[in-house]
Amino acid sequence: MRGPRRIVVVLLAAGLALPVLRACRAAEPAAGEPVKDVVLAIHGGEGDLDQMKLDPKERAAIQKTLEQALEQGRKRMMAPGGTSLDGVEEAIRVMEDSGLFDAGKGTVLDHDGHASLDASIMEGKNRKAGAVAGVTLVKNPIRAARAVMEKSRHVLLVGRGADLFALQQGLTLVPPDYFLNPTNWKELQDAWKKEKKKDNPRFSKQTRHEPPGSRRKFGTVGAVALKDGVLAAGTSTGGLTNKLPGRVGDSPIIGAGTYAENATCAVSCTGIGEYFIRYAVAYDVSARMKYNKGVTARQAAHEVIQELKKVETEEAYDVRGVEGGLIVLDQHHTFTADYNATQMTRGYITNNGAPHVILFDEAPPK
Ligand code: ASP
Repeated sequence: MRGPRRIVVVLLAAGLALPVLRACRAAEPAAGEPVKDVVLAIHGGEGDLDQMKLDPKERAAIQKTLEQALEQGRKRMMAPGGTSLDGVEEAIRVMEDSGLFDAGKGTVLDHDGHASLDASIMEGKNRKAGAVAGVTLVKNPIRAARAVMEKSRHVLLVGRGADLFALQQGLTLVPPDYFLNPTNWKELQDAWKKEKKKDNPRFSKQTRHEPPGSRRKFGTVGAVALKDGVLAAGTSTGGLTNKLPGRVGDSPIIGAGTYAENATCAVSCTGIGEYFIRYAVAYDVSARMKYNKGVTARQAAHEVIQELKKVETEEAYDVRGVEGGLIVLDQHHTFTADYNATQMTRGYITNNGAPHVILFDEAPPK
């Protein structure tokens, strides 16, 4: 087919395709819009991601991993005897093993070039919780967090003790080089270079004030789930590139990065951890629902995220307002994600539907 006829056919095809594409897109809720009937939801961190610069292969791999996390998490949770904790643990394990996020295999490195990982998990019925911080040998920190919750009388184990506990519990340990790869090594070197400049008085004030650690496009991972009326939440991270050795962020801190209470909601956060600890962000969302009856999870999440943006951050952080995001699931299976950065990668699944993954929104939540 040639000439004008071909042009007409192409135009007709485009005319038909566009509404179809728009309709597909319209099926996705706008950022911040609540979604009903969700049994499991996940996030892969928030940040300043320019979708035009994302390598299509990487994009496809991330999409696939998030879909797998949702499908495998739901499968474990819906199996006979399965629980919402199983769903959260399994979804996070898949993301930890993918090497694509700042958690598990894909962790970032601290100032000394070491991986030190944090994770936590909580269930909303008895408010049982477990967490590990600064582990260096545990393949799946989320499993170690759950073991702390179920097999010890403690809530949080750190460093060598946490690694040892994981070993005693029969969890998989890996040599430290499991966590090393060209990507995190380059990120650390770039951060070192920036730091050198920072110490050099010839550089401008602006350049000298780098944040104490920098964050990636795809970052911390988290999950929230609901089965048989029991809410659960979990979060796992490698923290911030170039963080001081020994630094612990919000992800393993119950009430900061993770929280679950059956009467309110399950929450998993991502963002500059120091502020999430100081503002008890995950608990704050739950508390607003608990103490102001009638406040929905969506309203609570949105208020908290908007307030964080207005916080007067210290000069050392080199950012205006606290950047971050969170996912929240309530007792009615209603899921909401909210964030104040450019993007937050996330996904959700219902009892029998296909997984929905959102890598980019047209606009952040309003
Ligand atoms: N909240 C994590 C931390 O501060 C980082 C992140 O979510 O990107 O360790």
